Amino acid sequence: MASLRPTVKTVGLPASSSKIGMGGALHEKIAARSIGKIAVAEKVRAAVRTGPSKTEFREYPMPDIAEDSALLKMEVAGICGTDVKLYAHPPSNAPVIMGHENIGTIAKAGREFTRRKGFKEGDLVFVEHYVMCGKCEWCHLGQYRHCENTDWRTNPDGIRYGYTSAEKAPHLWGGFAQYVYLPWNAVVHHVPKGVTPELAGLVTPMANGVEWSLFDGGVGYDSTVLIQGPGQQGLSQTVICKPAGASLIIVTGTSRDTARMKVAKELGADFVIDVQKEDPLARIREITGGRGVDVALDCTAGAGTMPILLGVDALKRKGGTIVVQGEMKEFPNFPLEKVTVKFITIKSARGHSYKACELALQQLASKRFPLEKVTTHTFGLKDVDLAIRSVGGKGVPDVIHASLMPWQ
Ligand SMILES: [Zn+2]
Ligand SMILES: [Zn+2]
Repeated sequence: MASLRPTVKTVGLPASSSKIGMGGALHEKIAARSIGKIAVAEKVRAAVRTGPSKTEFREYPMPDIAEDSALLKMEVAGICGTDVKLYAHPPSNAPVIMGHENIGTIAKAGREFTRRKGFKEGDLVFVEHYVMCGKCEWCHLGQYRHCENTDWRTNPDGIRYGYTSAEKAPHLWGGFAQYVYLPWNAVVHHVPKGVTPELAGLVTPMANGVEWSLFDGGVGYDSTVLIQGPGQQGLSQTVICKPAGASLIIVTGTSRDTARMKVAKELGADFVIDVQKEDPLARIREITGGRGVDVALDCTAGAGTMPILLGVDALKRKGGTIVVQGEMKEFPNFPLEKVTVKFITIKSARGHSYKACELALQQLASKRFPLEKVTTHTFGLKDVDLAIRSVGGKGVPDVIHASLMPWQ
């Protein structure tokens, strides 16, 4: 990775101790065949989640690529908080190739795939983990995440990258593998020129930043914003709120987040608050002269009811908006009266739309923010377990965004 960016820390076990026994330099030696213009391996190596916090390395046959489909050679799979949750608590018993934030090069594209979608072999692309049905209203609106026909929750047969069983042919439904299969209804975006695969790996948190803060929260000129949680998601919200015109950005974290809070300031946060050292509500009131903030965004993980309660209290006297995640099944003593008296709007943080992805990619291409401070670590495929644990704060210290490189 040194050639990509010298400051990136590649971490993990030496290649010799790999269970796969194959470092990046060796992959040239595997039997390769040519489909399309680009030579590809016969077998595809993948990290497969086979149980809670359990990974097995498996090989799958190289799929045949029909006229209306394509093959993606993986460059970077971003790892996020959702991976931490899904790895520890899998939603099903099926073997799954995780990896839902996928950047790669089109290694093979069927003629119809190129004709319909405009992507050709050699293009560097971002593939959304949502797959569209192409028929429903949500899909026509570019809101593929709400498609009922492809959501695994409503259709056990639906395809979603990083979620679908690897038993379903042609198996390659996740980014923790050397290749990913793209059917006709995969949602693909061009990565703009000058954006490296690793930087493009930030597109998902950045697109969530656009969706949650701008589209859902309505952040714009002179908005005051509270962002709770300084992980990759909170930092991405900061980067999106700043150029949208937010006049005040407050980011909260815990004492464990000291390094991340520093990055938050470098990315444009006006104030950071360590909720373990200061009373966050008192501090927010002090900063805002008692007024409170217009928008509160919850980007925490595993913090219980506290971020919602703080968000409700920290919002301005009337008409604020809070964007929440649905981590908890129950919320005892939910302050409904306060929510209605304060005339608060609650919005659900639910991924990103097509438009949010495009705006996120433009933001990455603008180079207006030192985002290399966010893409802190890369891991090889064999170290996927360590990579996920590190994003969850239980492995390599000070990881903000981790890039899994399936060819390392
Ligand atoms: Zn994610
Ligand atoms: Zn649909």
